Amino acid sequence: MLHKLIFGFFCFVFASPAFAQFELAGSWAARNHEFLAGDGLPVDFTGIPMNDEGRTRALSYSESQLAMTERQCQGWPAFYFVQGPFGLKIWADTDPVKGSVISYTIGAWEDRAPLTIWMDGRPHPSKYAEHTRAGFTTARWEGNVLVAYTTHMQAGFLRKTGAPSSDQATLTTRFSRHGDVLTVFAIIEDPVYLAEPWILSKSFQVSPTPISPIGPPCVTTYEASVQSVPHYAPEKNPFVDEMTMKYGVPREAAIGVPETLYPEYRKKFRPTPQRGDAGTAPAPKAENAQSRAHVEAARKIAGNDAFLMNPYNFFCIPGNARPNNVNAPELEPVKIFDNLYAVGNSEATVYVLTTTDGILLIDSGFADRVESVVVPGLRKLGLDPAKVKYILLGHGHADHFGGSKYFQDQYGTKVGLMAADWDLLYAPNANPNQARPKKDLVLVENQPVKLGDVTVTPVAIPGHTPGSVAFIFPVKDRGKTRVAGLFGGTVLTVDRLTTDALKQYVASIAHYLDVAKGMKVEVELQNHAIFDGTPERLATLKSMKAGDPNPFIVGTDRYLKMWNIVSECIQAEIARRSPS
Ligand SMILES: [Zn+2]
Ligand SMILES: [Zn+2]
Repeated sequence: MLHKLIFGFFCFVFASPAFAQFELAGSWAARNHEFLAGDGLPVDFTGIPMNDEGRTRALSYSESQLAMTERQCQGWPAFYFVQGPFGLKIWADTDPVKGSVISYTIGAWEDRAPLTIWMDGRPHPSKYAEHTRAGFTTARWEGNVLVAYTTHMQAGFLRKTGAPSSDQATLTTRFSRHGDVLTVFAIIEDPVYLAEPWILSKSFQVSPTPISPIGPPCVTTYEASVQSVPHYAPEKNPFVDEMTMKYGVPREAAIGVPETLYPEYRKKFRPTPQRGDAGTAPAPKAENAQSRAHVEAARKIAGNDAFLMNPYNFFCIPGNARPNNVNAPELEPVKIFDNLYAVGNSEATVYVLTTTDGILLIDSGFADRVESVVVPGLRKLGLDPAKVKYILLGHGHADHFGGSKYFQDQYGTKVGLMAADWDLLYAPNANPNQARPKKDLVLVENQPVKLGDVTVTPVAIPGHTPGSVAFIFPVKDRGKTRVAGLFGGTVLTVDRLTTDALKQYVASIAHYLDVAKGMKVEVELQNHAIFDGTPERLATLKSMKAGDPNPFIVGTDRYLKMWNIVSECIQAEIARRSPS
């Protein structure tokens, strides 16, 4: 023990600054082991602990601002030398007599100004002094670490996609060297836009070839006629959920809520388990003459119709189909027709049909969201959850039946499902701890369910599950009756289904098309509304004026075309699996 203490003491003595300083000047190649730019998506502020002001400002940013003449060269504050992907050229200005370093300069890189680090002990200027892109930096040695402190930076961005930094931001940089590796540890503090310090680290390595700085940083090259600053109004950033959609990252993490930076957040992070229809898409299979013919047929049906291009793009372009995302944002409760509403999740939607004798739900969403999302959603729409008489389930997966046990227990709601999927729910290998509704109403094709003035017609569409079912029912559009169709068992991704199941599914679509044609279905609804342009249609609905047509009425011709497109795309997949 004593031996160790003495050893430690000597280390301390020899670690005096004069011995431990290292040579900072030279050419340092970037070692981009970490992705620090974070600019792959318009809204990806993960890892930046922004406060509410920072977040509001970040979400207001539109990339079109770069078209403004005065912003073409706005460049980056000093911390970009850590964040950007470039190497560093650092040189020293040396006292000619004493040989001590007066300053180090990190050379410029196009959109980053040269950064001078004063080593001669001079003070920082008054806070009223000019702020520049690079700011004002002093440094001193702390043992074998050079600690630099930067103030007087102009306002700029923490991330290229709009996370702001103010002119009060400061940067503390710790440079340390191990062999030929230079590690830079940066702490950015900003009392205006950050709730906590933002910390970055990056390594550089001695470059055998010289790295030349590139500058002056930028010259404005063209005059654009942008009259006002392009931006998004609060709550209007169209990209806010892109990260959630693409990667399942919850919105609060994508928009830089400080809590999401800590390990404890993992406990709250809703993982993406194999729940409902979740799964991953396989690598696309090779096309052949037959598969191409089906894709071309689908493309031909879609024509120039933007609505029909949705299912074409989703199902016919390999790699585009995806499962519904369990972390997708919840739906804003919405009235679609006089007697039809939607609540629940934006990607696993619950439809609410009001009748003269109570309420009928189609699907019930996930079990863990019935009390937090579905019931409050009904209340927000002015609907009494106690009046829910029936829940009809599109099929027997947990993203559809999960919430129905709650309604059964609380309100005596009757739950309807096809026999084959009741069997699925109570199969010997089914999870007994799942919130399963007790077997109640057995739906049968052509045996309509009546509640008050509304009749719902079930159509068997086995494929996704053996007991998948579509529902056809009337809705009222400003008093006029329209016929709606909801296909309750869409195959979103084909990877888990056998070719026989896909063939059965194609036959089911054909059968459904017959019935839908006969009943003149003209309103298109989906429980997994991720391939039918529903987000855009909901936006249209919101801004709809008195005489405008309801965007959910697509007409019978287009409705049939839509499901023919889905069928062609699935047939293309079958063809890919069995090359002839
Ligand atoms: Zn399913
Ligand atoms: Zn589902």
